[in-house]
Amino acid sequence: ILDTLSEIKAEIAEKHVELLHLQFVDLEGNLKHVTITADQIDEAVEGKMMFDGSSITGFCPINQSDLYLKPDLNTFAIIPWSVEEKYAEARFLCSIHNPDMTPYEGDPRFVLQQAMKRAKSLSYSISIGPELEFFLFKTDENGNPTTNPHDLGGYFEPAHDLGEKVRLEIYRTLKAMGFKIEASHHEVANGQHEINFRFNDALTSADNATTYKWVVKNVAKQFNLHASFMPKPVQGINGSGMHVNISLLKDRENTFYDENDDMQLSNEAYYFINGILTYIEEVTAITNPIVNSYKRLVPGFEAPCYIAWSTSNRSTLIRIPAKREAATRIEVRHPDPSANPYLAYAAIAEAGMAGIALSEFPKAAVHDDIFSMTESERLEKGIKHLPDNLETALDLLENGPLAKMVLGPHVFRQFLLHKRAEWHEYRNTVHLWEIERYQMKF
Ligand code: GLU
Ligand code: MG
Ligand code: MG
Repeated sequence: ILDTLSEIKAEIAEKHVELLHLQFVDLEGNLKHVTITADQIDEAVEGKMMFDGSSITGFCPINQSDLYLKPDLNTFAIIPWSVEEKYAEARFLCSIHNPDMTPYEGDPRFVLQQAMKRAKSLSYSISIGPELEFFLFKTDENGNPTTNPHDLGGYFEPAHDLGEKVRLEIYRTLKAMGFKIEASHHEVANGQHEINFRFNDALTSADNATTYKWVVKNVAKQFNLHASFMPKPVQGINGSGMHVNISLLKDRENTFYDENDDMQLSNEAYYFINGILTYIEEVTAITNPIVNSYKRLVPGFEAPCYIAWSTSNRSTLIRIPAKREAATRIEVRHPDPSANPYLAYAAIAEAGMAGIALSEFPKAAVHDDIFSMTESERLEKGIKHLPDNLETALDLLENGPLAKMVLGPHVFRQFLLHKRAEWHEYRNTVHLWEIERYQMKF
């Protein structure tokens, strides 16, 4: 650590870093930070920077609100858009500690670290490659976001407008912050984009997803655009997913690959798939946590609604991408980018690992388009559907044992509290659709 710390200090001196942002995420995965002067780095690294946990969504009650930030040295990065000739800002992502220096159980990073620890006790490490889609919307004359896509491009289309330039700038910014970017492209919907970074251990990938959302929003703003990670911002066209590619490693080998199997998948891979199919509905409120999430999970827009798996079918919850050997992985397609990535990756990993504990094979893969099946055809094949609104998902979460284990008692309680309140507010709202549909009729 000291080595790294001295390297960081050298970088701070060389790049004239004046301010350090100590960042962390709240229950919803939203980035927070407190800014300190760079000469306080030693105190910061020792975990002496305190903040008021009672003002952070999902954290602590007002009478026990002192929490401490502990920067993760691996996450140090100069913020590219702050850099001037003799001035720069940098950031750390932080874990959160109690005053007695024990990890704070409400910290989403801690939740994921616990899942990684449980995997480790079975000799597994969790590898995650997320794909986060987003929209670039125009802003109005006051700079407020609209829902007008900034371009008319479609899938893989070379944009003749800002899109290409914004993506290039996002790519360069992420690269400067240490990301390994693999591909970037225009997505299916007008104004929709995706930039893929390399898979990594679960914690690094959740850190990266958090950083990515922050960078995308900041760069878009430089072009007077609004980047949105809302799952279904525009009705009638594709929404934005956060597909999660996951595999388990043992001694650095991918345990999902077996060259002798018909599909070149190992038993562990089949058990894991079965675990996701069996338990995912209990944690769907975590992977799809907002009211709007469920407006994406409808037939016809490449987002899944049915609990099934397949090799290339984009209507199923799980797809097995064609890559094998070290790149063998399971793509879970229903999560969306409004999820807190730390909680979502923990939930998916634990659902899969529960399947390994169960050691049963999944039902046959479904290669037909499920969207075009009738309900009785689906019933015949035993294909259930994902929860279709936040309330149903919360009921499943509250009544199953899995989420409580994944989140721990504090986050479990806070999550339900906040999400039930969100659903309540939605349920009490008379929406524009109702006025338009009913006002003249009744
Ligand atoms: N945008 C689609 C979704 O809602 C996914 C498109 C794709 O396969 O990349 O998940
Ligand atoms: Mg995509
Ligand atoms: Mg994908």
